[in-house]
Amino acid sequence: MIISIQVIQTGSVRVRPTAYQQPANRSVLLRRLRFLADRQWHPSNLPIYSFLITHPEGNILFDTGMSPHCNQSNYFPIWAMGTKMATQMHIEAHEGMASQLKEMGIEPKDLKAVVLSHLHHDHAGGLEDLAEAPIFMSKEHWKAFKGPTYAAIEGCAPNHWPKDFAPKFLVPSGTAIGPFENSYPITSDGKVVAVDTPGHAPGHVSLIVFADDATFFLTGDATYGLELLDKEETDGINDDPLRAVETLRKIKEFTRQQPVIVLPSHDTKTIENLKLKTAFSPSNL
Ligand SMILES: [Zn+2]
Repeated sequence: MIISIQVIQTGSVRVRPTAYQQPANRSVLLRRLRFLADRQWHPSNLPIYSFLITHPEGNILFDTGMSPHCNQSNYFPIWAMGTKMATQMHIEAHEGMASQLKEMGIEPKDLKAVVLSHLHHDHAGGLEDLAEAPIFMSKEHWKAFKGPTYAAIEGCAPNHWPKDFAPKFLVPSGTAIGPFENSYPITSDGKVVAVDTPGHAPGHVSLIVFADDATFFLTGDATYGLELLDKEETDGINDDPLRAVETLRKIKEFTRQQPVIVLPSHDTKTIENLKLKTAFSPSNL
């Protein structure tokens, strides 16, 4: 069996322009104040993509998407008020991750691994129905986000994580991959491997898939879109914009070393780029 990647969309989201992008050299406090004062909406609805990787060792899910329950008034804890007020979420009942997997004949317990880029609700919203799957994230991310109040302020819905949630931690047992010093193999052949891409959130990870015919880089939220990646512009509300820029530079460096198809979770071009296997080519800044 060959390695393949499939996109699974769990709805879409509209965000403030200041959440989508702000200069990295602006102070974190000022960036967040600007975001809170922003009354505009970004012109396009951003899709929410997760990825199902088929590998001879089993199915691997990268992120779990947004929950169809997110529009219920009590879905978010009070501390997530900022997220609730500053995003417009669109998702139908049948678009939840577990329903879509079921439709494909995949039971959560049969997944080899669920790898989370980070715990923001649009990436971890499917967790509530995937408790039987082995769920992995970086230790650094869990350390930063395990406190439910902090997690909620940062845009998570910790009240919907599995009961007594104790994720497994990614193990840095792989060799360096291009500019990425540590790697966390998900499969024993090292063809599906996580790498550190911090900045959007502490301990954020991306997934590299060395398929038979191409190399894919699933960014998670290390970047919202290829244009931002190319311009080395980060999202507007992370707490470490300079680190986020460092991460963007590493991703670009990796794509200069070999042809890489870069697939962000919120880029409207992701499906087409996967289908046509369009490699990302960074312009020379
Ligand atoms: Zn996201």
